[in-house]
Amino acid sequence: MERIPDGVYPHRELLATLGRGDLDILIREKTARRVRHGWYAVGEPAAADIAAVRRGGVISCVTALNRHGVWTPEDHRFHVRGNSSAVRNRKGPFCRQFGRPEPECGLVDDVPTALRHAARCLDDEGFVVVCDSILNKRLMTAEQIEYQFRAAPRHITKLIDRCDGRAESGPETMTRFRLHSQNVKVRIQVTIDGLGRVDLLVGRWMSIEIDGWEFHSDRRHFQNDRTRDAIALELGYYPLRFTYDDVVFRWPETNARIMTAIRRGAHLRSHFTDQIPR
Ligand SMILES: [Zn+2]
Repeated sequence: MERIPDGVYPHRELLATLGRGDLDILIREKTARRVRHGWYAVGEPAAADIAAVRRGGVISCVTALNRHGVWTPEDHRFHVRGNSSAVRNRKGPFCRQFGRPEPECGLVDDVPTALRHAARCLDDEGFVVVCDSILNKRLMTAEQIEYQFRAAPRHITKLIDRCDGRAESGPETMTRFRLHSQNVKVRIQVTIDGLGRVDLLVGRWMSIEIDGWEFHSDRRHFQNDRTRDAIALELGYYPLRFTYDDVVFRWPETNARIMTAIRRGAHLRSHFTDQIPR
């Protein structure tokens, strides 16, 4: 008999994979148990997955994007979209998309469907963060994202124009988005001779690097970052470096630091009075 991983599955999918005979055996053995009409739990799936299906939904939106490896903002809600009868008759909350609800396919929505729902659950910045990550990981192209929102409000199309798949982490996107919103011109993933690529460059001389990971990865990385800062200084740049926590949990302080440097003109000129020949 074909082994299928523990999980919650639509009946028709189990039928297609196992055939009626084997599925009947699993049901008799109680390895497969009915969760709601048309849906079965096989083995020991996560309780939250069973709960989502039991209340008439499937995993979508931010939670589904996260499972596809998309960088998503901190969010501890479990995002479920309901089928039409659940939306009418049961208690939410259910995530919604622009336009009419769609039939469910499997336990976890695909990236385009999840993104359409996330557009109504996330704020503007969060939406740009997930789009950047989807583009960066090549899960969808910019044209494919635009197509998903062809009937969405103009506001969403404007946000899509602000997305950039070169961004390498959520905090990097957040920093760019917030600086743009304050009319600070930022270029991203700029290559500097003798240094390599920096995440963000303000004006000609201020570089901003973001450690995109929640936990600082390893020793070699740590060393490499310090060496880069030293080189940037030698080349006359004003290097700023921020962590995930600086951006996500301490933005007012971080923003103040960037703005103070900009007010002093750190982005306009090298800190060497006699600029080094280049
Ligand atoms: Zn949602």
